[in-house]
Amino acid sequence: MGSERDAPAADRDADAGPPAVDLAGVSKHYDGTVAVEDVDLRIREGEFFTLVGPSGCGKTTTLRLIAGFEAPTEGRIRFGGRDVSGVPPEERNVGVVFQNYALFPHMTVGENVGYGLRFSEPPGGASRAERVRDLLDLVDLSGTADRDPESLSGGQQQRVAMARALAPGPDLLLLDEPMSALDARLRERLRLQVREIQRELGITTVYVTHDQEEALSVSDRVAVMRGGTPEQVAPPRSVYRRPASRFVAEFVGDNNVFEGVVAGTDDESAGGGTDSPARTVLVDIGGETLRVAVDEREDAATGTPGPGDRVTFCVRPQHLRVGRAENGLRATVASAEFLGETTRVHLDCDGRDLVVRAEDPLDGTVVVGFDPEDAHVIDVGD
Ligand code: ATP
Repeated sequence: MGSERDAPAADRDADAGPPAVDLAGVSKHYDGTVAVEDVDLRIREGEFFTLVGPSGCGKTTTLRLIAGFEAPTEGRIRFGGRDVSGVPPEERNVGVVFQNYALFPHMTVGENVGYGLRFSEPPGGASRAERVRDLLDLVDLSGTADRDPESLSGGQQQRVAMARALAPGPDLLLLDEPMSALDARLRERLRLQVREIQRELGITTVYVTHDQEEALSVSDRVAVMRGGTPEQVAPPRSVYRRPASRFVAEFVGDNNVFEGVVAGTDDESAGGGTDSPARTVLVDIGGETLRVAVDEREDAATGTPGPGDRVTFCVRPQHLRVGRAENGLRATVASAEFLGETTRVHLDCDGRDLVVRAEDPLDGTVVVGFDPEDAHVIDVGD
């Protein structure tokens, strides 16, 4: 993920051509149920773009709207600037992979892949047999063309489904929870393979998952959806480090969210002759005052909090250090989950739940503190 940048998406849209997929004001209602509401998304050419969010947030419906299996109640969908309203799915030149591989048991692996060519000839003048062979090579299943699909593992079957979707040379690949039927270890391996194939082909890909770790690990950008609408659209690192809302902060990884009122600014951090955009504010969280750095450049969207403003900020568990009294809080250990490489410890801090990471077992009363720069301001209000 080295090429990924943290710049806000809007900054980088300026130098791009028309988006590969453009959703403008798209809604989908079913008899009073709002599945998707006023969605604006611009997915770039060659991008691996992921829709992530809890069950029922509208991920699959958004994907089905892009595929053309559903028509929007409102709004427009364009591919490369071309309005595709009224274009049926088979004419949209998209490849779709679903959660249940849906391979035909009465066909061989090769015939299943060849089935992807039922509406079109192989691209580039290849024969059908060549195309099937090339695709099986691509998904690392060379030599399996004559096998019965049910003799393959779940991960292999899903790669056959992917080869079938790619057979006609689609402009766009849509993947709906393609890993969810597989066990955890296999999912990790397959997601890397999917990412490699996507990079090799440079194909614009829209991926749906409810698994935030999966979303962070494979995507160029992620849309975190809630109640039918994306709440934040950004590269994985931005979504993780600078969540735009409390919902995103708590959905993507563990987090500690605090609310309080700005009691003042920390004069030592103000200006000081440097061009650092960071300023530290003192936040009263109800009896305790914590120092929180506000990066006036990074946090421009939330505005700079001043005295009396209500602020919501978060600190990741790995930044809430056990034994650090400075800028810290006292808490008691409530429970611990041993995770192998680390232990996730739940603390009770005057009725507030906190989560930290620890290498050694903890019990009793502890102090936990954080660097003001490791806090992120999510929201500023009056
Ligand atoms: P999951 O992760 O559980 O698959 P999702 O984020 O993909 O969820 P959708 O399947 O898009 O969510 O559904 C969004 C909302 O729209 C849900 O409340 C769902 O019940 C509703 N919905 C989806 N399809 C239909 C339909 N055909 N008829 C009525 N309601 C629907």
